[in-house]
Amino acid sequence: MSALHRSYVTSIFLFLLLPQIKLSAQNHRKIEFPNIPGYLTLISDLHQHTVFSDGSVWPDIRVKEAVFDGVDVISLTEHIEYQPHNKDLPHPDRNRSYQLAKEYAKNKKIIVIHGAEITRDLPPGHSNALFIKDANKLVQQNYIDVFREAKKQGAFIFWNHPNWIGQNKKGITQLSPIHEALINEGLLHGIEVANENTFASQALTLANEQELTILGTSDIHELIDWLFDIPGGGHRPVTLIFAKERSETGVKDALFDRRTVVWYQNSLIGQEKYLIPLIKSSLVVDTAYYQMYGNTKTQIANVNISNHSDATYLLNNESNFSFYHATDVIQLNPHTTTTLSVKTIAQLSSFELKFEVLNAIYSKKEHPKISLDIYIKP
Ligand code: ZN
Repeated sequence: MSALHRSYVTSIFLFLLLPQIKLSAQNHRKIEFPNIPGYLTLISDLHQHTVFSDGSVWPDIRVKEAVFDGVDVISLTEHIEYQPHNKDLPHPDRNRSYQLAKEYAKNKKIIVIHGAEITRDLPPGHSNALFIKDANKLVQQNYIDVFREAKKQGAFIFWNHPNWIGQNKKGITQLSPIHEALINEGLLHGIEVANENTFASQALTLANEQELTILGTSDIHELIDWLFDIPGGGHRPVTLIFAKERSETGVKDALFDRRTVVWYQNSLIGQEKYLIPLIKSSLVVDTAYYQMYGNTKTQIANVNISNHSDATYLLNNESNFSFYHATDVIQLNPHTTTTLSVKTIAQLSSFELKFEVLNAIYSKKEHPKISLDIYIKP
């Protein structure tokens, strides 16, 4: 084969290969978690900015990023009271960012929720109002009038970055009398436990005590790829929403009903009653059989567990069995099948494995526990 011919063949080969490489790189960044019994798992990022407040991009970029990341539900929550670009981009209509995003999302599988960020000193601090009808009516002098107007429009309202050192030098979330009053009047329904690259531990306690919906968001202003190192395998914080249907109504019902789990770094944060079905839907036991040594069946059961999620599960062994290869803390990598060799002492037809799930929390330092029923293939 001549050099020319060889380079021709190589070019053809590369030409055929390139589109596939590009495709798999895009698939790789998609955030994936399984549905749970009775509900669809929708991936959401409900706190984002564009040039219509203090962000650096046009709304179409937010829609495109969401498509790449497999995010099903977004909201562009422009600051009502903070419009630093308004000398360059004066727009009289505060709904414009939503309208543009909605237009770009047409024919895409993305739900765009109409939202805005109520931007006040602490307390009450910053809050997002979702499912609003007209953001212009939220331009008001007193914060309480903004919250009341948002509620009148049917809004779901959550407290943003309650740990933010920009407003709270200790970074500790504290419930003020103003927040209590908002909650009592039905004007505050949720709280962020994760915002951008911060985690608000006390916000989780508060969510449990005050029965607030648990949220995690990117609060992105520039590019998702830069802030969350997507090329390096990172992901934005998202809220997994357990919805009865893939629609705005399905999302709204789920948020008011507190059906969420936050996916932040490698942690799943939420109520135990949603963490357990999410973990059990993620980890599926495919097969289990006793290992042979030559012609002899051993008492070591090989259990194949597939992880159908993006989380790297860290499980602490709480059963009476120990493992032949692994220590008592096992790691199940995303979208991978792991073989766990269990020393069952006798040959059993079935047994139970019990784990504490270390990468999930439902309240401060408390991890959910799961059991897996193992049936040996005869
Ligand atoms: Zn914000």
